Amino acid sequence: MAGLDPEDWEELKTQGHQMLDEMLENIRHVSQGPVWQPMPASVRDVFKTAPLPDAGQELGDLYQQFTTMVQPYAVGNRHPRFMGWVHGGGTAQGMLADMLAAGLNANLGGRDHAPVEVERMVVRWAAEMFGFPPDATGVLVTGSSMANFIAILTATRNVVDGQDMRLHGIGGRRLVGYAGESAHGCVARAFDMAGLGEHALRRVPLNAAYQMDTLALERLIAQDRADGFEPFLVVGTAGTVDTGSIDPLNALADLAEREGLWFHVDGAFGALARLAPDLAPLLAGLERANSLAFDFHKWAQVPYDAGCVLVREPGRQAAAFAQSLAYLSREDRGLAAGAPWFCDLGPDLSRGFRALKVWFALAGFGTDRLGQVVTHSCALARGLAEQVQTSAHLQLLAPVTLNVVCFRVVTPEVEDMDWLNGELVKDLQVSGIVAPSTTRIGGVLAIRVALVNHRTTEADVTILLDALHSFMEVRLAQVRMLKLVEEQAQA
Ligand SMILES: *Cc1c(COP(=O)(O)O)cnc(C)c1O
Repeated sequence: MAGLDPEDWEELKTQGHQMLDEMLENIRHVSQGPVWQPMPASVRDVFKTAPLPDAGQELGDLYQQFTTMVQPYAVGNRHPRFMGWVHGGGTAQGMLADMLAAGLNANLGGRDHAPVEVERMVVRWAAEMFGFPPDATGVLVTGSSMANFIAILTATRNVVDGQDMRLHGIGGRRLVGYAGESAHGCVARAFDMAGLGEHALRRVPLNAAYQMDTLALERLIAQDRADGFEPFLVVGTAGTVDTGSIDPLNALADLAEREGLWFHVDGAFGALARLAPDLAPLLAGLERANSLAFDFHKWAQVPYDAGCVLVREPGRQAAAFAQSLAYLSREDRGLAAGAPWFCDLGPDLSRGFRALKVWFALAGFGTDRLGQVVTHSCALARGLAEQVQTSAHLQLLAPVTLNVVCFRVVTPEVEDMDWLNGELVKDLQVSGIVAPSTTRIGGVLAIRVALVNHRTTEADVTILLDALHSFMEVRLAQVRMLKLVEEQAQA
């Protein structure tokens, strides 16, 4: 038997239905388990030592291994009390869409087929969501890291004329771009990967609201021009990863226009706030960007992975990426029709059918409901911030713009507050009760809570604060005990 289809389709169907039912039940009851639990060494060892199999195993056995060794030790971002980093919660509907997409096994690099039209549709919808013109181009990618990279490459290849950068590279050009100090690390990495070097990304100081300081930006641009550099790009962030702040997008758009710069917005999670009528005004100016990077897998709850890049002006993205290769030649009919293809808009040739789960999310929930999820997350964040501000032992470390709350425990009993807060976050994570993460704000370690999951409720925020309080009591009891022991040793 040469092919890989199952010998017994009926048996496979039974197994498939079982997997489907069990995973749906697992999602349904996800809040009853721990957010996260450490993987035991014995489980890790299985993966570390498993030899390359030469003979096949039963699907049922593999499924058994999945349910016992993988499923219990996943990241935990589906859980309503996963509050670390910025992770989407996913949906059962999205899982089903992904299953259908895998069933079709479509390759969306190009050619003439319905899945490509689905992606064109969701890109057109995305353009409308963010106030881009209907003929804006775009492509679904792994995430905002790739989306930012594609946008920055598009900018380098289009903004600077007089030299074909695609053929000759940047040569001796001294291109420089600008982003706030709070810009995501992937922007600097994009500069690195584009061959510009990370130093070519100037980091602009922030104002008191953790937004890019536009006056400082103007001074940097003037200084760079005076020093013989070529400013070509400014990157605004809509929803910074540290504090959720939003750069002054209209002011940046004005400045980019005046200075002849490409204006790119990293809206990885924050751009989705445009779907929430109460928050959309905060993003005014986003619609003026030359390009936008954002994720469907964060606030839009599409299962990983699903990022997107949009480029306002038609032709720009293709000018940066399209190749003419004999084996990829385009025709007027047949499978090789339907140009331009998605492989003309980024570095990937073979690409999966991410568009199906995005379609099912946008059409299945509708943008109103997705906007309500965003509104709800932000309301929870404001509620948490209020409780932090009224608590004697907590200190709010940054203003809350969207869904990110940075705060810390303060107590006169402990000298090293960074240590205490770092330990508390680890205590919370290891307990499985709730999982915030950390960052540094103004030089101090902050407990960082990012409310992204559509399943999170007010009760979950209460559990966070209660658990934090309990672990603090435990830590303080230990600290007091140690002090006693030391004092007695000295006496
Ligand atoms: C998450 C995030 C990124 C990176 O996106 P990925 O989807 O993880 O690649 C970039 N910028 C910001 C502001 C983010 O929050």
